[in-house]
Amino acid sequence: MGLLIKNGNIISATNEYKADILVIDEKIAEIGIDLPEEGHEVVDATGHYVFPGGVDEHVHMGSFATLSFETSHAALVGGTTTIVDFAPQFEGMGILDSVKKHDDERAKGKASCDYSYHAMVMDKSDKLLDEIPKLVDGGITTLKFFMAYKYTPFMVEDDLIFRSMQIAKDYGITIMVHAENGDMVYTLQNQLYSEGKIEPIYHARSRPPIVEDEATQRAIYLAELADCPLFVVHVSSKGAMMNIKNAYDRGLPIYGETCTHYLTLDESYLAKPDFEGAKYVCSPALRTKDHLEALWDGIEKEYLVAVGSDHAAVDGGFERKKDGIDNFAKIPNGSPGIQDRLTMLWSQGVAKGKISRQRFVEIACTNPAKVSGIYPQKGAIAPGSDADIVIFDPDYRGVIKFEDSYEGTDYAAYEGFERIGRFDKVYLRGKLVAEKGKLVSEKGKGKYIRPKPYAFAYDEYTNYKNE
Ligand code: MN
Ligand code: MN
Repeated sequence: MGLLIKNGNIISATNEYKADILVIDEKIAEIGIDLPEEGHEVVDATGHYVFPGGVDEHVHMGSFATLSFETSHAALVGGTTTIVDFAPQFEGMGILDSVKKHDDERAKGKASCDYSYHAMVMDKSDKLLDEIPKLVDGGITTLKFFMAYKYTPFMVEDDLIFRSMQIAKDYGITIMVHAENGDMVYTLQNQLYSEGKIEPIYHARSRPPIVEDEATQRAIYLAELADCPLFVVHVSSKGAMMNIKNAYDRGLPIYGETCTHYLTLDESYLAKPDFEGAKYVCSPALRTKDHLEALWDGIEKEYLVAVGSDHAAVDGGFERKKDGIDNFAKIPNGSPGIQDRLTMLWSQGVAKGKISRQRFVEIACTNPAKVSGIYPQKGAIAPGSDADIVIFDPDYRGVIKFEDSYEGTDYAAYEGFERIGRFDKVYLRGKLVAEKGKLVSEKGKGKYIRPKPYAFAYDEYTNYKNE
């Protein structure tokens, strides 16, 4: 017996049409008109939109003192069925061993949604260069470098990024960068602190847009010289976005994502009284409204190709953020957002006419899967794809409330925002996991999805090289 979802308006990245979907054994078996009901469980989706389960290509589960995969069911409630976590590298340990340790300790048996990994370089030795050729066989096809966080294990010199790019391109590994100029940030942090400027708003003052614009352009130059595709994570400034667009227009395989908060929260959130601004401390910092508008325009015009949450729910929540009560630079970075990404993109984007329904699916489901090398198993409603399906009721009206949060922390970043539409039913591999904002499945049933190399950032590059 299969599951037959009837009469929904199916939205894909390129299309919208009314059809029935037949699910057999965790996969989409058939899409068609008036499919026979006999022998199947029938769900009527008349008047509802049906789209692929969300894919969040940018989350942090259990690294940097964040809450771990035990809270990953929050994704399901918000219509996201697959997350791609940035696995940390442990000191003195190789990338693949580090990912395995992270997976064993934090994800196995605990993940409730399906998941995959990007790796983060945090042990800056030349051993990395020897390991890059082995990564794809070990299940890692994306590698992220930090250009910021000076005097921490994160910040990597240009030299190592450049040499890694020269090797990675031969294996189809996607290089990602967190692009902020670590020297500029470090200097500004110290100068502001010495002037007695300690409140959360100075987080933004110490990381102004130019810090991001410069590092983004530098990463583009490194990639251009290395002849390597590049994916810039969490683009928050207009200038950084335009640097990516201009590089792409010059024929380079340079792409970027932005995140929910850079589209919807401006820097006034950092200025909230009583240290409340600390809840919104993440890097890059929140921007002024002109940047928010430019980013909405940019995702509709395809200057940026995906929207992740950069979910990082600091363990200990707001209380833990008080580590930085006397110095904004000591506030643990990160904000929760795994649950409300799709809600915010629909309510603030689609419902307000900023992006189309197709573009919503493309930036929130399809492209994130492509970027991460897990498409078309994920991110598509198509025969043979995993049956990760959302039935969406566009008529629901409500408000995002902390009491509805499954994120496991003590605040919801988007509390008070209007909720337009609701996830009536969410299916993970054909199984109903969430209904009308409530979890209805057992936890811990998420499955690891192995990524493939030569993902999105390589598509046009490969065509171009073959011309
Ligand atoms: Mn980052
Ligand atoms: Mn991040």
